[in-house]
Amino acid sequence: MAKPVVAIVGRPNVGKSTFFNKLAGKRIAIVEDKPGVTRDRIYTEVEWLNHSFTLIDTGGLEPESKDIILSQMRNQAKIAIQTADVIVFMVDGRAGLVAADEEIGNLLRRTGKPVLLVVNKVDTSKLPDSFYDFYQLGLGDPFPISSTNALGLGDLLDEIIARFPEKQDEDYEEDTIKVAVIGKPNVGKSSIINTILGEERVIVSDIAGTTRDAIDTPFTHGEDKYVFIDTAGIRRKSRVNEDIEKYSVVRSLNAIERANVCMLMIDATEGVTEQDKKIAGYAHEEGKASVIVVNKWDLVQKETNTMNQYIKDIRKELAFMPYAPILFVSAVTKQRVNQILETIKFISNQHSMRVPTGRLNDVIGEAILLNQPPSDKGKRLKIFYVTQISVRPPKFVIFVNNRELTHFSYTRYIENKIREAFGFEGTPMSILYREKG
Ligand code: GDP
Ligand code: GDP
Repeated sequence: MAKPVVAIVGRPNVGKSTFFNKLAGKRIAIVEDKPGVTRDRIYTEVEWLNHSFTLIDTGGLEPESKDIILSQMRNQAKIAIQTADVIVFMVDGRAGLVAADEEIGNLLRRTGKPVLLVVNKVDTSKLPDSFYDFYQLGLGDPFPISSTNALGLGDLLDEIIARFPEKQDEDYEEDTIKVAVIGKPNVGKSSIINTILGEERVIVSDIAGTTRDAIDTPFTHGEDKYVFIDTAGIRRKSRVNEDIEKYSVVRSLNAIERANVCMLMIDATEGVTEQDKKIAGYAHEEGKASVIVVNKWDLVQKETNTMNQYIKDIRKELAFMPYAPILFVSAVTKQRVNQILETIKFISNQHSMRVPTGRLNDVIGEAILLNQPPSDKGKRLKIFYVTQISVRPPKFVIFVNNRELTHFSYTRYIENKIREAFGFEGTPMSILYREKG
């Protein structure tokens, strides 16, 4: 089930990122933080009263530059309108109502989306006189908050959640492998999908996705059921916003959430971009399986070591996902395109693999003998027992004497040992510790 998306829109300096960071603090990571995962986020998961949603700071999408503020804000608003279930329109309670607010207000008012008008920087319980001017925006009652003092945030979250759409059920069978096809515009998503589908039986084509921008294409390959979730829109390609390349990041989030497997497409002629990294980081944090597909391999001048050098570069840029297989393909010559589905099926199985507890503890027991757990001030970490508590992604709990003695480098060692023994190719893994009295 895709999480609802909430977008924050507003002028520079009204406090969008302060607000974002306040809520992001409550974020619960699905997989542990690893070095290399990008920190400058424009989106975060927020949990509130049994609900979780994705919060996007549209202001973080572009560098600030005074002369184009208005056009940037129009873009922000457009993106919010396209991608969000609920829009938080933030204004500045100290500055009062300004012309730019009215301009954006006009844009937002015409959408069918729920808009919450939020007046930030109301730091005390007394409303400033200028507060009432915001009624002129015609967006209903303004909500006063103070992001820095964390005032009114709970009430606002309640209001946001109350505006989420009713849940829609996914209509795919449990064993369908859901593949998010992710990559910047022009990387070759449509070409690759069409090449694969050209050889497969497409059951139904162009079903409008249950979400905003994705188009779902279910098909079978032998006995296996798949659905491609494509963020660009495969055949009914809408070119409207293709030019705003950066925003493909935002559009990808939803597809990733709905998928089991992410096909991360990289353009061989460009290498891994900052945007590719962000998207891959999200797939990793969401605990999805990933395969890295380097397309347009036909355009690369090859020498003896070209592919190895490429692999090295990708491993360096996407250091947080050393588990992801890398394929070098060409949609034009069809080179190795036939390996894509095989790999997807393989990593999907790895993603949902469960290992027997007995064997797992044998492996960990041996690992401990080879390399003793860390110690601190004369106390040594004791590992009693390990068990796998979930799949998709695989999650393990290690019972120990004292959690404070654990160390990330040892956790990584354990992870490597589990991977050596069992594989878990293509999938992130999480390892948690619990104390056993
Ligand atoms: P953004 O450009 O909209 O992301 O705005 P920022 O979050 O960077 O905030 C701009 C300025 O407003 C910073 O100096 C913040 O410290 C300040 N600010 C943000 N929220 C509040 C608030 O609730 N009260 C007050 N007094 N200042 C705030
Ligand atoms: P999308 O926006 O990611 O769906 O990308 P498209 O599939 O529309 O491809 C964008 C452009 O790249 C088109 O002109 C394709 O013909 C071209 N293209 C796609 N894959 C390849 C490839 O493997 N090699 C070469 N040379 N061109 C490709």
